[in-house]
Amino acid sequence: MNDFVHPISDEFKEIFFIKGAREGKYPYSHSLLIGDVLIDTGISSRLLRKLKRLYPINTVLLSHWHEDHTSGNRLLPRAKFLIHSKDKILIENVNRFNEFYGILNTPAEEESEWLMESLKLENTKIDKIIEDNEIIKVGNGFDIKVIHTPGHTAGHCAFFELNSKIAFLADIDLTNFVFYAGIDSNLMAFEESLDKLIQLDIKTAVTGHRGIIDGEESVREEINDYKTIIHKRDERILSYLSETNPKTIMDFKNQNLIYKYYSQFKEYEIIAEMIMIQKHFDKFIKNRLIKQRGKGYILS
Ligand SMILES: [Zn+2]
Ligand SMILES: [Zn+2]
Repeated sequence: MNDFVHPISDEFKEIFFIKGAREGKYPYSHSLLIGDVLIDTGISSRLLRKLKRLYPINTVLLSHWHEDHTSGNRLLPRAKFLIHSKDKILIENVNRFNEFYGILNTPAEEESEWLMESLKLENTKIDKIIEDNEIIKVGNGFDIKVIHTPGHTAGHCAFFELNSKIAFLADIDLTNFVFYAGIDSNLMAFEESLDKLIQLDIKTAVTGHRGIIDGEESVREEINDYKTIIHKRDERILSYLSETNPKTIMDFKNQNLIYKYYSQFKEYEIIAEMIMIQKHFDKFIKNRLIKQRGKGYILS
């Protein structure tokens, strides 16, 4: 057995956890192989070439359009590709990624171009659209249920195998990165998606960047902790606002209110942070916690 592929449990030997390069850290991610269905292709080109020599891959389920989950698509020219309708346009037009990350004409654009080139990103032709609650039947008696979990991207989906109760949560990744900085991201939808997942009886969760979380209680607890990260961001942003002195999004720049530390992708993270603060603003306005005053916002 290769060290990056192993069955998730003794009971379900045909469901494999595929560990991505660099422990699944961006720009890579983990995958799940159920029979001949691979979920996401971001493990790295090197590992994907190895994987396809070991197992037949006839179908690829894509959790969403982001490059760290889809960069290996080009290495599977004979597989059928499935994605949610809301993410189809992007995966078929990778030249629009920067626009959807909100980084056109910013310092992060060059960094992104370089990364996309090094990942050799190509457009993927989608063979079939998947819908919420649809069940994809796999040989050997597996039934993969599509759980549409928008928020991270508009078409983000989790996949729930109904016999084993193993779920692939993709970029509801249960790390503290919690990302909703795309033009197609939505914070309120993100939180609703988390509530939707908590309702399921997931026994084992696999996420795109964290790996395996075992046990129904642990999975639920982890999703609740993940929600708490968002709530703490709410609190930090609200406490940065005042009742009298209006603040604009620009006043929040470089304040580390979302990310305590920036990584090697700092230029990008500063922009992402601003976009995410705007998504919190959208939520606060809807819940009447803040209101507009001149060009800025104050607490209601
Ligand atoms: Zn993503
Ligand atoms: Zn990811």
